[in-house]
Amino acid sequence: MSSCCSISPGRALPCPSCGEIGPVVGVAPVRPHRPDVVDRPWQHCQTAGCPVVYYLDLGVVDADAVVTQVGSKATDRPTPVCFCFAHTADDLVADADANGGVSTIKAEIRQAVADGYCACEHLNPSTKCCLADIHRTLNLNAATRVGTR
Ligand SMILES: [Zn+2]
Repeated sequence: MSSCCSISPGRALPCPSCGEIGPVVGVAPVRPHRPDVVDRPWQHCQTAGCPVVYYLDLGVVDADAVVTQVGSKATDRPTPVCFCFAHTADDLVADADANGGVSTIKAEIRQAVADGYCACEHLNPSTKCCLADIHRTLNLNAATRVGTR
């Protein structure tokens, strides 16, 4: 019996560009940038100067293909508040405004964290969970709005 088509979860591969082995972050953080990606254990290359952001044995997502900054890569792109799922401050504010001040993005991130899809320690340059920053961004917006009413 051949096992050539089975994937062994947790098997870490070296980056095809720089050869360093990056952490496995899964498909969830890749999807905001490339909605059509295959559901595989994607890895994040953390090497400064390497153009690869996410990679698999099947292919790579490079700095040109991401919509926001990821980790220390693609620093010329918008800086997200949530690095795992590429939510910017503008996204957060627009979402909260559209939902009567309730952030559905924050709820989604909480759920993703609970389900283990968050990879802040690898993708956020601060290595901290983004929920505190999201809270701060929303509070700041709420305070600004109260002031204008
Ligand atoms: Zn690399």
